Amino acid sequence: MQEAYKVILAPNPSIMTGPGTNTIVLGGGEEGATIIDPAVDDIAYLDAVVEAGAERGGIRRILITHGHPDHIGGAETLRKHLHVSIYAFSRQGVPFADEEVADGMTFPAGADTLQAIHTPGHRFDHLSFLLEKQRTLFAGDLISGITTNVIAPPEGDMLDYLNSLKRLQEVDISEIVPAHGPTITDAQAKISEYIQHRMLREQQVMQALEVLPPGVTIAEMVPQIYVDVDPRLHAIAAWSVEAHLMKLEREGLVEKLEHDQWALVKPTA
Ligand SMILES: [Zn+2]
Repeated sequence: MQEAYKVILAPNPSIMTGPGTNTIVLGGGEEGATIIDPAVDDIAYLDAVVEAGAERGGIRRILITHGHPDHIGGAETLRKHLHVSIYAFSRQGVPFADEEVADGMTFPAGADTLQAIHTPGHRFDHLSFLLEKQRTLFAGDLISGITTNVIAPPEGDMLDYLNSLKRLQEVDISEIVPAHGPTITDAQAKISEYIQHRMLREQQVMQALEVLPPGVTIAEMVPQIYVDVDPRLHAIAAWSVEAHLMKLEREGLVEKLEHDQWALVKPTA
């Protein structure tokens, strides 16, 4: 029997993508195959994707988790070659998409069904895809198999991100296939760990604002919070701190005094 899906590793390893992007080939039968995230415009890699699709009745549709370059790089070449549609959350996120995908939309996947779940946070247009019977979640960049993924403003939104994770806590998931790194089998434990990790960082951001003088900058806060982290990664950590500050600002707990100067909101008494 054919496996429910196949993972093809794209040849784009880097500090941000880890070993590279996991491209998914799934489905089969009369409705043909579906591709998720054709990552790079590389002939040998796209040949392997097309071949895996051919084993499943041929590729009929291309789905995109979100419009970052390492998820869409091969999509247009593949479309030109196969004459199939590209589906993404919005044309704002993926300008060359043929079809926009609403939350809850389903796609044929052999004997199973693939459901799109809008999970913004990493980016506003982020979709995860759930193989409904198998309970496999193709999580894009929402969850990473290698490190905690980056929530970088202005695109990344921590409040949306945490809400997306909390929404997935309500979904029965047997395994998570992230876009980067190995499959995660303890799905709900990993989702809880991600939420806890973010909440801990948020507490540390609040604590830093308590001990440092009002008007502190993100660059001044980072070494206080990321004491355990290699200073070379402080630039990336700064994105995360900014994302937390923007969430806390929306919640009325912190305020921006001037450009990149932050303070706790004093309770009015
Ligand atoms: Zn991304």
